[in-house]
Amino acid sequence: MTTAQLQDLDRRHLWHPFTPMKLWAGEAPLVITDAQGMYLIDSDGNRYLDGVSSLWCNVHGHRVPEIDAAIRAQLDRVAHSTLLGLSNEPAIVLADRLMKVVPQNLKKVFYSDSGATATEVSFKLAAQYWFNLGKPEKREFISFTEAYHGDTFGAMSVGRTDLFHRAYLPMLFKVHSAPTPFPYRWPGTERTDAEVCAAALKALEKILYEHSAGIAAVCIEPVVQGAAGMIVHPAGFLRGVRDLATRYNVLLICDEVAVGFGRTGRLFACEHEQVQPDLLCLAKGITGGYLPLAATLATQDIFDAFLGEPSEGRTFYHGHTYTGNPLACAAALASLDLFERNDLIAQVGLKVQALSNMLESLAELPNVGNIRQKGLMVGIELVADRATKRRYDPLRRIGVEVCQRVRQHGIILRPLGDVIVLMPPLAMGVDELQRIVEAVMIEIERLM
Ligand code: PLP
Repeated sequence: MTTAQLQDLDRRHLWHPFTPMKLWAGEAPLVITDAQGMYLIDSDGNRYLDGVSSLWCNVHGHRVPEIDAAIRAQLDRVAHSTLLGLSNEPAIVLADRLMKVVPQNLKKVFYSDSGATATEVSFKLAAQYWFNLGKPEKREFISFTEAYHGDTFGAMSVGRTDLFHRAYLPMLFKVHSAPTPFPYRWPGTERTDAEVCAAALKALEKILYEHSAGIAAVCIEPVVQGAAGMIVHPAGFLRGVRDLATRYNVLLICDEVAVGFGRTGRLFACEHEQVQPDLLCLAKGITGGYLPLAATLATQDIFDAFLGEPSEGRTFYHGHTYTGNPLACAAALASLDLFERNDLIAQVGLKVQALSNMLESLAELPNVGNIRQKGLMVGIELVADRATKRRYDPLRRIGVEVCQRVRQHGIILRPLGDVIVLMPPLAMGVDELQRIVEAVMIEIERLM
């Protein structure tokens, strides 16, 4: 089909996620038809560096021979079979493999197929854990301001955003909101990271002190709060949250859907502070960014609370048709092989400093308020006034404007409001990272 035909059919039939469709109708959508390595290729043959890892999931690049081969080999055996009442080889082998790399207290894997289902499962497991232990009153959650955990009802309740969830607010369940330790925008006068960390932990402790009898779990995006604008938590915060959860007898859910699989410079962000969550949510990068797969990992203690005779009603009655899909699990296994074979985490470590040096040139621009980086996750916050940190008028859609211009340099980026996000595949080379940073610099300078 020609580009014009594809665009026409897209406008006629597709409803795109998180997209104001009225604006979309007036645009000529970029239609991706091919890919190679770090590049996405459109229907006219133009090549674009994938600067946001195809929405934060691609790890090793596109059309990676080893992952392609693993999927093809699995395709020659079985594409799908259910985990309800049956098992399958790739799902078993992957569960065993995950056990060797996740925090060692985690012993069981519950598969699903997206980040939102991974978190939804964790909320249901947490609530039913306490129910099964005879404490049904422990069913509320604590989350952090502007947290994002996906778009299902449980995920919207725990990760609530007024803009996105206005229509559903009366339908969402009760959640206690603890302040996110965001030094750049912490209210009041300038504070050090350590002071913001201590203040946020104090606020969390107050909620726990008053309400822990009714709380099932505290849920956190460890180390980097992604969708909120790539907010990097101060060092020590995650450890503090773990300790408070233990002290007040609530579970700790770590949502590593975005930060997992190497993005922050460790395989899992929890490792930065030697934290062991009670429930760990994984998705996005688990298959190297190839196929939909998610996993919620639990401790033996949680698993044991679900054991009993069927008549006792302890079973976890939850599942999805494509849970533990063999093709997706085969891709995940091939991706984990590549992490090892390419010593990818060590390689990322080398690139993190290089990227950080490149970003220094941006920090001087008058409309760059704050640059946040952890590993290969970067947020560049644009402001109308650097001295007062005044935001741009949202109607200006400054982030969208910069990213659209960057596209003319052959680079795909997607902003979060006024925050320009860089989240390249872990395997991207330093030269390509440099190209991205230079294009962003040119286009931010052009705003002035
Ligand atoms: N949790 C976090 C931290 C995320 O960043 C996201 C997506 O960006 C999700 C959950 C939801 O994942 P999905 O879009 O696969 O449902």
